[in-house]
Amino acid sequence: MALNLVLLGPPGAGKGTQAARLTRLWSIPHISTGAILRDAIKAGTPLGLEVKAIIERGALVDDTTVTRIVCERVSAPDVARGFLLDGFPRTVAQAQSLDSFMHSRGDLVIVEIALSEQDVLHRLASRMVCSECGANTQDDREVSTCHDCGGALVPRVDDREQVVKERLNVYRRQTAPLVEFYGSRPTYCRVDGARMVDDVTAAIVGAINACAGENGGPRA
Ligand code: AMP
Repeated sequence: MALNLVLLGPPGAGKGTQAARLTRLWSIPHISTGAILRDAIKAGTPLGLEVKAIIERGALVDDTTVTRIVCERVSAPDVARGFLLDGFPRTVAQAQSLDSFMHSRGDLVIVEIALSEQDVLHRLASRMVCSECGANTQDDREVSTCHDCGGALVPRVDDREQVVKERLNVYRRQTAPLVEFYGSRPTYCRVDGARMVDDVTAAIVGAINACAGENGGPRA
């Protein structure tokens, strides 16, 4: 049985970092809508040109566009063992579209990585990302190159303080309602994202094994 995983949580909660670890453990593709959109901007495609200004001001790209991207991506052959969605859904409308798409394709396992707004602001003020592969780094200002590919580390354009505040507003208004949308499902769980990275991974793996395992899903 496939593992169809959704990571929820505010910007900076550690979704990208945890996604990289979880997708290695379960051998499933990491589907980050933010990374897909940033790649489109870098490549200068029509999609990239359309979304550049939206992302730079911390707003959301429209539901139809991102839902189309995700539905196409999760229809690819490499998702036979499942997938991990990072940054999607971000609105109740996106979650409803995902439910319709998943109808008869299996259950979603939803993991919320919780982090206070104060911790978000603190983390994003020092986050650096690789300009080549997009990997996040730990908060270490001494390191200037990516440990995965050697690319230069740079701040993300949307991690500037004013934009982070807008992204948090957007999260509060449009994404936080997903906690209620998914909260009563037996395959929903919440972990504390303020803990050390390894502890968060262990908590997520335990939670996934508990809820996916009960449904006959794959264990890490
Ligand atoms: P992320 O890397 O997930 O923080 O996403 C970066 C930016 O991409 C967001 O601030 C949005 O502008 C856009 N974005 C990513 N995923 C979505 C989504 N599911 N719906 C709308 N906009 C998105």
